[in-house]
Amino acid sequence: MSHFLFEDEAEHVIVGTGAGGATAARVLSDAGRSLVLLEEGPNLRPDQRPTDLLTGMAQAVRDMGSQTTTGATPIPLLQGRLVGGSTAINSGIIWRLPEDVIDHWSREHGLGDLVERAALERIYEVIERELEVAETGEDVLGGNGHLMARACEKLGLPGKPITRNARRCQGRAHCLQGCPSEARQSMDVSYIPMAVARGARLHALSRVERVLLEGGRAVGVEGDVLDADTRRPRGRFRVRATRGVIVAGGAVHTPAVLLRSGLRGLVGHRFQAHPGAAVSARFPEPVGMGTGATQGYEVPMRTDGFKIESLSLPPEMLATRIPGAGKAWQERLSALDYYGQWAVQVRMKAHGRVTLGWGGGPIVRYEPLDDDVARAQKAIGIICRMMLAVGATEVHPGIGHVPETLRTIADVEAFERTRLRRSDIHFMASHLFGTACAGSDPTRSVVGPDLQHHQVRDLHVMDASVFPTNLGVNPQHSIMAVVYRAAERLAQAERRAA
Ligand SMILES: Cc1cc2nc3c(=O)[nH]c(=O)nc-3n(C[C@H](O)[C@H](O)[C@H](O)COP(=O)(O)OP(=O)(O)OC[C@H]3O[C@@H](n4cnc5c(N)ncnc54)[C@H](O)[C@@H]3O)c2cc1C
Repeated sequence: MSHFLFEDEAEHVIVGTGAGGATAARVLSDAGRSLVLLEEGPNLRPDQRPTDLLTGMAQAVRDMGSQTTTGATPIPLLQGRLVGGSTAINSGIIWRLPEDVIDHWSREHGLGDLVERAALERIYEVIERELEVAETGEDVLGGNGHLMARACEKLGLPGKPITRNARRCQGRAHCLQGCPSEARQSMDVSYIPMAVARGARLHALSRVERVLLEGGRAVGVEGDVLDADTRRPRGRFRVRATRGVIVAGGAVHTPAVLLRSGLRGLVGHRFQAHPGAAVSARFPEPVGMGTGATQGYEVPMRTDGFKIESLSLPPEMLATRIPGAGKAWQERLSALDYYGQWAVQVRMKAHGRVTLGWGGGPIVRYEPLDDDVARAQKAIGIICRMMLAVGATEVHPGIGHVPETLRTIADVEAFERTRLRRSDIHFMASHLFGTACAGSDPTRSVVGPDLQHHQVRDLHVMDASVFPTNLGVNPQHSIMAVVYRAAERLAQAERRAA
């Protein structure tokens, strides 16, 4: 008798159902392939997802966001762990792969074919149509977004409403908990149901431990079935793949799966990110972060190495960003509706590395460089100036070794002159890349331009891990487009070989 709780078989097995895995499933199911999709997290229907932040995070966010990088500046890594991956808890921001990144990847990493412009253009159009991509309308910009728009006007900054995969957004400010009206077309409500409707079998709460390798080929995966309540293993599973295995567990967990499968080389190297930091401020009029797009307005400043975005938070989370104690804190809490919050994502130059810890889980070593911190400080200074320009009475930069409240431009100038240490800024990172880098040179990469492992046949990586560099823009659209292209070419190659 089998000691597995379940066994299954398909032409392709896909590990992970986020931006990468779900897009691979969309393309390969369209090509008529049989698929098994394995996802460590639960399958949460948006209308069943808890609306309060803590229960919502416990169910959907890996370790409730408590996994951090190691080093002098531990940075929490936000990652979705549910069907839909991080797309099911994200703000739906859409940006195409920047031109200079296409050039760099083509020239330095031999990926010209993968990111060929005409092909990407065609793919973007499909994805943008299917995922209802549109600019955030005035009606759902919300107080936080409108304030940022006014600040940009006043200071002459290049702000604009954010383009998102949420044309039907009603401004319920619930992106992070899962859009209750399914307006945001995250993978759990778009490409995963599409693939399942075409016959793909989805196993949630199924954590892949390793890829099964035989004769230099990937032939399946094995792992643990997890209990829905405790998330502890309650038995084993095995899935056979007759054509191959696609690993898409995200930039932290894909290398962990590969390392547990005995693969080495550059697996786990080149970890990169866009760590972010947020500034909150009190305004004379209510801002009303409880309505409007979670993220509706942005100021892209890519040549400066960062991007500023409005970021509305639920009250439970916002309260932790408000400084003070006792009566002073209570007074501020009673005025929570008067607070706004804007954040910066920094395109950091630092590289880190993912290795395995004792229990077989990933450890992420990563340390921002001095130059990265300087750019973050510059961006935070700009946010503070923007907030004061539209009447903020108290700005809270949330940074160690500087006053917790800034009230005047002179205060901001003093902040800008302060030499910050790396540990002074409280970063978080949700855009993660690079740990199974793609490239034409096997000595400098893990997978080739077709995203197949250089040494193991029929083992593909299709997620943000294959990006050789970070981008300086929000990544989900680029991940989907690059994976779409690779999956389409895989299906074509299989057809030719048949
Ligand atoms: C809070 C938040 C907000 C964000 N906002 C935006 C935004 O607005 N716009 C944007 O472009 N990007 C945004 N991002 C980033 C974007 O969502 C990610 O870059 C993208 O989803 C990464 O795609 P991926 O396929 O690499 O990994 P993910 O989407 O993270 O998917 C990986 C999946 O694999 C599963 N998995 C991992 N290991 C295993 C295993 N061993 N077995 C089975 N399953 C496994 C995980 O549970 C997860 O579901 C945001 C991210 C977060 C966390």
